[in-house]
Amino acid sequence: MKKRMIKTFALACCACLTLNFFASCNIQGNSASTNDGGDIVQTTTKEDLYTGGTHIFDVKDTEKDMIKNGECDYQIVYPSSCTSNEEFAVQEFIELFAMATNIELEAKRDVGLTHNASAKYISIGNTSLLNSSGIDTDVSDLKDDGCKIVTKDNTVYIFGGKNGVMYGVYDFMQITFNYEIYYIDCIEIDKNVSNLKLKNYNVKDIPDVEIRHRNWDRFSGSTAEDARNRNRFRTISSRIDQILPIHQVMGDKTSAGGGGESRTHNSTSYFLPPDQYQAEHPKWYASSGNDQLCWSAHGDQKELQAMIETAAEKIIWSLQWYTPTAYPDCNTVLFSIEDATRECQCDTCTMYKTEYCGLAAPSIIVMNGISEIVDEWMAKEENAEYRRDLTYCFLAYLGFEAPPVKYDETLKKYVPIDESVTPRDNVKPYLAMMMSFDYQLSLQDEMNKKGKDIIDQWTDITGKLNYWLYSVNYRNLLTVYDSFNFFNDAYRFLGNQGIREIYVQGGTAGGQTTPTAWGSLKLYIESKMLWDVNLDVNVLIENWFNAMFKEAAPEMKELFQEERLWNGYLMDTFDLWMIRSNYTDLVNTKYFPMATLENWMAKCDSALAKVEKYKTSAPELYQAIKNHIEIEWITPSYLLLALYNENLSSTDKNAIIDRFVDATDRLGILRAAENRSTPTITDFIATIS
Ligand SMILES: [Zn+2]
Repeated sequence: MKKRMIKTFALACCACLTLNFFASCNIQGNSASTNDGGDIVQTTTKEDLYTGGTHIFDVKDTEKDMIKNGECDYQIVYPSSCTSNEEFAVQEFIELFAMATNIELEAKRDVGLTHNASAKYISIGNTSLLNSSGIDTDVSDLKDDGCKIVTKDNTVYIFGGKNGVMYGVYDFMQITFNYEIYYIDCIEIDKNVSNLKLKNYNVKDIPDVEIRHRNWDRFSGSTAEDARNRNRFRTISSRIDQILPIHQVMGDKTSAGGGGESRTHNSTSYFLPPDQYQAEHPKWYASSGNDQLCWSAHGDQKELQAMIETAAEKIIWSLQWYTPTAYPDCNTVLFSIEDATRECQCDTCTMYKTEYCGLAAPSIIVMNGISEIVDEWMAKEENAEYRRDLTYCFLAYLGFEAPPVKYDETLKKYVPIDESVTPRDNVKPYLAMMMSFDYQLSLQDEMNKKGKDIIDQWTDITGKLNYWLYSVNYRNLLTVYDSFNFFNDAYRFLGNQGIREIYVQGGTAGGQTTPTAWGSLKLYIESKMLWDVNLDVNVLIENWFNAMFKEAAPEMKELFQEERLWNGYLMDTFDLWMIRSNYTDLVNTKYFPMATLENWMAKCDSALAKVEKYKTSAPELYQAIKNHIEIEWITPSYLLLALYNENLSSTDKNAIIDRFVDATDRLGILRAAENRSTPTITDFIATIS
């Protein structure tokens, strides 16, 4: 009985919590085999570890000095015509090396330089030094993000794939100076290093997941600092970069399109807008309304073919506008349902739901048709310049998540129900699993079996998948959504299944800059575990708390544990474990007693008191820790203001409001829900003031 241990234990503790006696509860006193209320339950075993990864860190000290008595005669060398990533890697090397050693290294271009046994260089990127060193410079197996660090004679070579050269610098800093980034303003690295032996580096490091999209608005900004943070957290790609933009009017690039929306939910809004096509082709639209397509054209084969041809024609226009040279990352066509649960109820769609497991079946038929037409167009000699290796996806979301499969006892795997719904080799689902999981439960939980099966089934018929998963409560962004148990297991499970690309949607409420309710911890875990799915999530969590809160770590870890336990208690008591729990509305007095919220706020204050000493000795550090604490103070104070503002004295209320406004303003927290039509924080404060 491994599953849901957290909720069972939460039951035992909830009474204590409400009565403010939580600290006296023996939450650490359980046996090692059960959850102690804080650690994440790990249901995977050694046998489940991912064995396909490459993380070779073979490093030994040599007798030679890199730094002696604070002196270092190494120079950085980089390519004369360097890529922007190589240039960035050099800047990062200089900055982080100086952070650890107080030594600012010189950097110069590789003009006229070749490998020389006595020279002392740090070579970054594809330099003439590297190419004359005799080192194996083949980086094809590293893909875009993998890296190598190699010592030859006195020189250290850092190189890799397109982005890998940057990650090579971070790996170097990690190995050499214990560098780790926990949050954008929280880096740990050795300090005042004045003696250092040259190491014999033999490093080859390739991420387990090749395409790891950035999941939080925190990383969506356009400043140089935003770009640096994306690089440091190794999540640089945007979910939409891979997807071909589509414009609303056929053949007119100036019509609406091209942006993120045209690459996300785009079937009736961009591909086939009803105002242009419905009069002539009423069967293209769902019986439930023209904001969704009927993916089977109500069973009319001629109309279905016309729909396929029109969509293909739009794709062909976009392929000519968004060329492989200008958009090298764009390798996916996504033709997807709109973001609404309404779906077609016509006879043909109903037949697919009953006989083919859902509406993915007609989507496969449509994408097969589209891919045939577009592939044929690209194959023509006159279109060679627009040719790319495209994958054709539909959004397997809501009623489209389950594949049309049956289990083949002979093959011991799932196979398509029949030929008509067999995806072509380059047709895949973009698996957006909103209706298949409760992300607050372990992947191994009975409730999540359906979702796990869906992954197995799609993988059997289409290979490595594109994933879109969900890690927060989008209706209540400021409340705790306990996705920690799920994602620990999920990264390892998915790593073993094979991932084409992954997007784990966090807080993305239109520029919300700070992830709330332990979102910054989720962000750190994602960054680490998508690189190496075998990492121990509990070790990551422990390190993160120590780095982010210093002496206040025990208080904040306790707050984290209490909030998770309370969440488990709520889910149990009010029967809230459910699929699509990402939209459960928790802002209700029955879920959060006033005393509980006040306890959590008080815990933040005692945490702050623990780091008071930094206020004068290290004001910048103090401000950073204060911000980290304040981010978590926002959860209980928001709930207190939303639910109990009338119970507060006017003095208390005003003080909390002032602090809340200051914190949300300073941290860039704009609203309490994902939906941009919901009230802003300013509106919220106005309603309770
Ligand atoms: Zn239909």
